Amino acid sequence: MADKKKVEYDFAAHEAPLFQAWNEQGYFKRTPGFGKHADDCYTITIPPPNITGMLHMGHALNDTIQDTCIRHARMQGYRTRWILGTDHAGIATQTKVDKKLTDEGISRLQIGREKFIEACYEWRREFGTTIVEQIKGMGCSCDYSDEHFTLDPDYVKAVRRLFVQWYHDDLIYRGKRIVNWCPHCTTAIADDEAEYVDEAGHLWYLRYPLTNPVNGHDYIVVATTRPETMLGDTGVAVSPKDENAQAFVGATVELPLVGRTIPIFSDYYVDAGFGTGFVKVTPAHDPNDWAMGERHGLEKINIFDETAHVVEGYGEFSGLDRDAARKAIVAAFDEAGLLDHVEDHDHSVMTCYRCHTKLEPWLSEQWFVAVDRLKQDAARVVEDNSIKFYPERWRQVYLDWLANLKDWCISRQLWWGHRIPMYYCDACGWEDACEEDVAVCPQCGAPVRQDEDVLDTWFSSQLWPFATMGWTEEGTAAEELRRAYPTQVLSTARDIMGLWVARMVMASMYCCDEIPFHNVIIHPTVMAADGKPMSKSRGNGVDPLKLMKDYGADGMRFGLLMQVTGAQDLRFNEDKLESSRNFANKIRNAARFVMMNLDGYVPGAPEPTTPADAWIFSRLAGMVARIDAEFDEFEFSEITRELYAFFWNEFCDWYIEFSKSRLAGDDPADRLACQRNLVFVLDQALRLLHPIMPFITEEIYQDLPVEKEAPYLIVSQWPDAEDLSRYIQHDAERAITMVADTVSAVRAVRSRYGISPRQALSVAVRTDQDTDSRLLEAQRQLIVDTAHLDNLVIGCTVEKPAESSVSLATGLEIYTRLSGLVDFDAERARLQKEQSSLEKDAAKLAKKLENPGYLAKAAQEIIDKDRAKYTDLTDKLQRVRNQLAEIG
Ligand SMILES: [Zn+2]
Ligand SMILES: [Zn+2]
Repeated sequence: MADKKKVEYDFAAHEAPLFQAWNEQGYFKRTPGFGKHADDCYTITIPPPNITGMLHMGHALNDTIQDTCIRHARMQGYRTRWILGTDHAGIATQTKVDKKLTDEGISRLQIGREKFIEACYEWRREFGTTIVEQIKGMGCSCDYSDEHFTLDPDYVKAVRRLFVQWYHDDLIYRGKRIVNWCPHCTTAIADDEAEYVDEAGHLWYLRYPLTNPVNGHDYIVVATTRPETMLGDTGVAVSPKDENAQAFVGATVELPLVGRTIPIFSDYYVDAGFGTGFVKVTPAHDPNDWAMGERHGLEKINIFDETAHVVEGYGEFSGLDRDAARKAIVAAFDEAGLLDHVEDHDHSVMTCYRCHTKLEPWLSEQWFVAVDRLKQDAARVVEDNSIKFYPERWRQVYLDWLANLKDWCISRQLWWGHRIPMYYCDACGWEDACEEDVAVCPQCGAPVRQDEDVLDTWFSSQLWPFATMGWTEEGTAAEELRRAYPTQVLSTARDIMGLWVARMVMASMYCCDEIPFHNVIIHPTVMAADGKPMSKSRGNGVDPLKLMKDYGADGMRFGLLMQVTGAQDLRFNEDKLESSRNFANKIRNAARFVMMNLDGYVPGAPEPTTPADAWIFSRLAGMVARIDAEFDEFEFSEITRELYAFFWNEFCDWYIEFSKSRLAGDDPADRLACQRNLVFVLDQALRLLHPIMPFITEEIYQDLPVEKEAPYLIVSQWPDAEDLSRYIQHDAERAITMVADTVSAVRAVRSRYGISPRQALSVAVRTDQDTDSRLLEAQRQLIVDTAHLDNLVIGCTVEKPAESSVSLATGLEIYTRLSGLVDFDAERARLQKEQSSLEKDAAKLAKKLENPGYLAKAAQEIIDKDRAKYTDLTDKLQRVRNQLAEIG
């Protein structure tokens, strides 16, 4: 472009007012559609961010994906709606509010349940809307007029209704089970909410005296990583395959410190090769031991209270926490001569994802969802492709997760959340699940009490797609559900595939007899630039709010989507955001150029009159068809690549370039045709870019002098690939591609040898195909003008002239005469000098990179840098060698 002056785009000044205008126009609500999709609804329900949440990179990426989808659908004429809301986030919020109160010197237990819940609501009023404001800042076109919250009265009703239905349908039951218990949060934690941490531990070998000697042995030895649990041992197991151990089956041991007599039995669970062959069995403190206990009728003895302190009845050990109990018990074994030996043993332990306390497998009374019936439908609708996953490999992950799914513990010992709607009458024993609050017993009239626990947050999240669409009031007859359900897209992170995605499918199949969404996008996890997870403690995180300030919402959005390939992780690359911001500037400058060259312009139909017109129209038409296909597969990086290459390399670099002589020419009809075509291509490009870069495209569109079918780009029509297909002309595309290749080659030669653009050159082009020669011959004048040539030979049999450079392009060889323009001797000398210097540097670096000591010691980043440097050196060297060969 002639206009080299960089115009920095002022994001803050433009984005907020545009967002406000869209919102005021009501475009974010379900507005009437148009065209062939006029009656079709397109709906997305946002994964509700936690009210404790702040916009992080995961949100930034996921919200960009969803906004791109919904804006694309809106422009296609669908009646769109992106349903917004926030999640009460039981344990996360309770932890935050608890901490705030503690900091103020207030204890949760002191103020009681009601006051605490009030404090939670107050906290939500103060902080819970931050994230919604941040989502607005990204330009997300959610329906802000109807925001949902998972503790809204109607949402509470929906949750209660599902609980009651499942309870009466025998899908919810109460049971004593071993759960993952957090002794700090004093609540059960779901299996998939637990985090595994490696721990350097020990294996303690403990001697258990036999009641009567067996084959001359007085005792057996058991190995354990958790000696403190021996207080709850009620058996010792051996493998049925262990021949030596069979003599002990049926014998009993006297449990040390406790004095309990417990049996030795054989069970297939026991691995014959492990430890000593004898396994202590603690049914109340290990899920596998629980199962053995069930099989062999063992007593289940709970030795810990809810804070993991040893309960009454164990003498000196009672009242100790689990760590102190371990020390004391090992010491007691040692003292009694019953500690055989100790070995180092690394193993992984489960920790609480909120507070990182070690979880305790703990026997407690909990509510469960029986999943066997529910999971069958949820698997079927994925197996038959009613629900599709993008990328497709997540389909199997989903099915595997379902196949391994065990009954789901849904009760949590918290206050903040959906209180379990179970009511109990202590007077007569009546109990039931009730949608409405119950005060007195329907059987005996005595006052009843409600269950103290709340439901797992995911129990309420699983209703999200339909509870936000009117299911509570009218069931599946609700207008929104009838018209707009299932939703089209669910975009989410991979770590909640089971926790959330599968459960929404189960709940929706049960409540609505319908899938909740057609397409599931599992977006990559945004990793830091160093490839590690972003974290505060590592200090490697990036803040999307800062990125938006630096690159604009558009720049951040485009730059993020550029990085969404099918890969599982996305190693965040800020350079992509920078190049996206530069791209936004390029768009801005191109639009300015077009707008500044509209003297005498009258709007009218575009018409390709020159080969360059035909080429850009054909390129545009082909790209729209490809982008449509890519949208169908949610291939976002491909879409951004197409748009970037088209706008920058084809429209700006060539088409605008070709247009300059026509705009400056003195044929008014040709100038007008050129203006109309420029405006047309720019207008189409803005439409294609809008879903990803909503702000800059809307801002330019507002100034674009075209007849508009809608006042704002956000509700304008998406380019119609079918309609545009009439512009497809392969010959025109080939011809101008060859022109561009030839001109680029000549320009590269000029810069390589420092030849002035004013110096006319002599060029010969050899084509592989005869047809290419003819196509190129027809563009002779365009090439001569654009590359500034005084002689051009084109043909299949053209030979390389002496003293000329050679450039290669697909199907072409381009020879540029250098005779008289380059001092070959001086040039040769210069190149030889550069060659030997590069060779020296490359050899030195190669030696370093072959040194095993260096490779072992240096940081990976440094090695990567050196490797890149080496590649760069060898590239340069190759180019210098080529040039030397060229000038002979
Ligand atoms: Zn915890
Ligand atoms: Zn009663």
